Amino acid sequence: VFNFAAGPATLPESVLLKAQADLFDYRGSGMSIMEMSHRGKDFDSVIKTAESDLRELLSVPDGYSVLFLQGGATTQFSAVPLNLCSSPADPADFIVTGSWGDKAFKEASKYCTANLVWSGKPNNYTDIADPTDPNFLRNNQNPDARYLHICANETIHGVEFKTYPAPENDNGLLVADMSSNFCSKPVDVSKFGLIYAGAQKNIGPSGVTIVIVRNDLLHGRPQPATPVMLDYKIHADAASLYNTPPCFGIYICGLVFADLLEQGGLAEIERKNEEKAGALYGAIDGSDGFYVCPVERSVRSLMNVPFTLRTKELEKKFVEEAAKEGMVQLKGHRSVGGVRASIYNAMPLAGVQKLVAFMKDFQARNH
Ligand code: PLP
Repeated sequence: VFNFAAGPATLPESVLLKAQADLFDYRGSGMSIMEMSHRGKDFDSVIKTAESDLRELLSVPDGYSVLFLQGGATTQFSAVPLNLCSSPADPADFIVTGSWGDKAFKEASKYCTANLVWSGKPNNYTDIADPTDPNFLRNNQNPDARYLHICANETIHGVEFKTYPAPENDNGLLVADMSSNFCSKPVDVSKFGLIYAGAQKNIGPSGVTIVIVRNDLLHGRPQPATPVMLDYKIHADAASLYNTPPCFGIYICGLVFADLLEQGGLAEIERKNEEKAGALYGAIDGSDGFYVCPVERSVRSLMNVPFTLRTKELEKKFVEEAAKEGMVQLKGHRSVGGVRASIYNAMPLAGVQKLVAFMKDFQARNH
């Protein structure tokens, strides 16, 4: 089947086949990759190679640490203010462009004084104010904020930043949740103080969360009540081996990073993602209103494509018939309904082409 799930999501077949062999006998060791000590030399090589491949893919500058953590992106909603604010009285700024940014804002409010700079809620999260417009953020940002937080791609609403806002806080710190567009295109990491991403969309199974953090932020002064598991410096000093890491997940992420490099790196991945998204949005926009994508064109996500049909009944029929033809997990998120096609890196062009052909056929039969 072609799996259009939002996450856990489809992974490259070549990676899964390789993992299948290593699951039983990792490179002739007689042990499964899942049975190996995280302190042994085999796993040491797995995590180091995964990190260096990720650094190469994203051109991560030397002054940044890469952490492989647990707890999902949701844990980072609190870990970020716990590490970057010295007390709950410290201010931090949030731009909210969808449900995930809103969750990050609300969770952070427990550990910092969270200021809402801009929200897309009045427009049902279908757009983003132009971050290059000098009036947009400057007026609302708090110059004392410790950081400005964004969700780079809203998985549910299908809204993606194409240019990033300039933080106007004294530290110039921008923090981004990149869970659902991580490694989908080149990113200038140096523009960010911290990037975090759950793995289960573009790069691996659930259970691994990547944090890329500028080293000067690892000052060792998190808020006093910060649990060790949320203390970035502890994990950075221990090279992500402070406690037992999510070994199997890290191993799969490593295979995916190697595969992305083999495909030509993130510029080539972006080209492929643009081709797929272009075909799908083209089919929606060319349907004379039979399919409607509510998101403002300039900020449409390359990864998550939400659309609606005339009625809920028709949407249900669409999802059911598509599943019968081997295109699964197309139902929109329960909070917004409609249809959503998640077309992450591992979704082949053939999957999108099949969906587009089905959409045309479905329209002809149900117009
Ligand atoms: N942020 C974004 C953009 C997401 O899409 C998700 C999950 O889908 C999360 C955060 C939460 O991630 P997790 O379930 O790994 O905690």
